[in-house]
Formats: sequence, C-alpha cells, structure tokens
Amino acid sequence: MSDIAVIGLGAMGTALAEAFLEKGHAVTVWNRSAAKSGLVAAKGAIVARNVEEAVRSSSLIVACLLVYDTVHEVLGPAGDALSGRTLVNLTNGTPEQARAMSVWAAQCGADYIDGGIMAVPPMIGGQNALILYSGSRQAFDDHAGRLDALGTSKYLGEDAGLAPLYDISLLVGMYGLFAGVLQALALTGKAGIPAGEFMPLLTSWLQAMQGGLPKWAQQIDSGDHTANVVSNLGMQADAYVNLVDASKAADVSTELVLPMQNLMRRGVAAGMANADLSSLVGLLSKQGS
Ligand code: NDP
Repeated sequence: MSDIAVIGLGAMGTALAEAFLEKGHAVTVWNRSAAKSGLVAAKGAIVARNVEEAVRSSSLIVACLLVYDTVHEVLGPAGDALSGRTLVNLTNGTPEQARAMSVWAAQCGADYIDGGIMAVPPMIGGQNALILYSGSRQAFDDHAGRLDALGTSKYLGEDAGLAPLYDISLLVGMYGLFAGVLQALALTGKAGIPAGEFMPLLTSWLQAMQGGLPKWAQQIDSGDHTANVVSNLGMQADAYVNLVDASKAADVSTELVLPMQNLMRRGVAAGMANADLSSLVGLLSKQGS
C-alpha cells in the first residue's frame, strides 16, 4: 500500500507528487501519457499500470487533471475502487462542478474533499503555496498531516463548493489586477517608456492602493458606503473618462477599461455618486447573470 495516489502528472500533478515524496510519503502515480511518470518514478514513486490500480493502492487519492470532465473521464471507470477511500480533487473548476463531484464520490462510497491551489508548480511544498480545501471535515482532519506536504492548508467548510468559490474569487481579483497592469504598460509603452522603468512605480502604487481595501470590506459588510468617503464615485467616474480618452488618443485598445466605466456610470445613475467605489459590489450582485 502507498500513502497517497496522485492521478495526473501534468506540471501541477508532478509538483504535488514530488512534494509528497520529499516529505517521505509512499506515492503511487498514474498519468494518461506514461512518459511523464519517469521524473517522479526516479524519485521513488510507484507507477500504476492503470487508474484502478492507482486508486486501490492508497487510502488517499489526489486528482489533478485539466478540467472536471477529465476527472470524470479518468476516474469514472474506477468508481467502485474509490469505495472507502478519500478523493481530494485539486482540479480547477466551479462550485457547482465540485458539489456534483461530491455527490458522485458519495455514490461511490468515497469521502470527498475539493481543493483550490493558489500557487504555481515551483511553489508547491513551500509555505507560500496556499491550498484551499472544502468538503468532508472528517476526511480533511484524517489526512491533513499528509496534505500539509503541499503547502499551507486552509479548510473552508463542509460545502465542497467553497474551495472553488474562494479559488475563483481570488483569481478574479488577480486578473482584474493583471488587466490594469496590461493597460498601464500598453499606454506607457506607446510613449516609448520601457516597462522596466515604469514597473517599480506601478508596483509600489498598487501596493499603496491595497491599503484601502480593508475599509471596503467593512463598508460592504455594514452596507454603509458613505461614511468618511475621500474619493467618491462621482469624482472617480469623471476622472475615469480621461483613462478612456487617453487610451483612444494613444491608439491603445479600450476593451479592458470600458466595462469598469460602464459600471461606474451605472452607479452614478443609480444615485451613488457620493458613495465609495465599494458600493459597486451591490450593482454587480443584482446583475442576475
Ligand atoms: P497540464 O496541462 O500540465 O496537465 C494536464 C493533466 O491533465 C495531464 O496529466 C494530462 O494528461 C491530463 N489530461 C488532460 N486531458 C486528459 C484526458 N482527456 N484524459 C486523461 N488525462 C488528461 O496542467 P497542470 O498540471 O498545470 O494543471 C492541472 C490542474 O491544476 C488544472 O485544473 C489547473 O487549472 C490547476 N492549476 C494549475 C496551476 C499551474 O500553474 N500549472 C496553478 C493552479 C491550479 P497527459 O499528460 O496525458 O496530457
């Protein structure tokens, strides 16, 4: 018997298997393309001949495949073998997909934990790799000692959809930041300013702006977006026009900046000009899509 079976040896699955091996766990692996097993086999992993053999090798099954359809495709035929085991699915997906997977795992007689990996493969095994988990509390408690090999574990609750919800929400925040950075670099790049010259200013500015976000949390939780406002929405909506106009004048695409302008205008039209920008969360929540 192995301690852990890792299903999927892409960039992330390989990093997960390596982290388990480095902590001294006995690991069995399976991957569709057998050639990718060589790296972890050289570090001591046992290579299973098929998925069912991998599943039967361990009480803890960690799946990290491309998308949820892949997980169903790969593990579906081995459903019976999952009975009495714990499936930890670290594949990126939606809360709905995680809940459906949880139901399927229960039908197979398995405990289910969904996970979200907030790290890139080289970070796995270090404390900066945050791994979000949700689903069976009992199974998480039973296996936390092993899962901690991957990074810093954070258990969010019994609802299997919580880990992907947090995961996706964190990624949305990241992509919003990246979108702004891309626009800034396109604008400055058009003016011939090297990215390396502008980037230090940009990163320190973004860091400074993050300081205001805890206040947003208070405003959103209390529902009061109007106390001690220093940069009201009306002022920001007027200034934002300049971002759009400057982009157009420089022949830089406005596709990333226009959606935010539309939302700000909607907020002003809804009578929120004197509120803080945090009030826009309410408009997004009522969108219904
Ligand atoms: P890769 O593209 O490197 O690997 C994909 C894995 O899925 C491989 O094991 C591949 O097998 C397998 N796979 C794909 N399609 C099939 C199929 N039809 N049947 C069987 N196996 C299949 O992706 P990563 O390892 O980087 O990512 C895995 C998961 O981790 C994803 O959900 C991703 O979103 C998530 N993740 C990745 C991060 C990263 O930075 N890489 C960061 C955080 C999360 P084969 O080798 O045979 O192609």
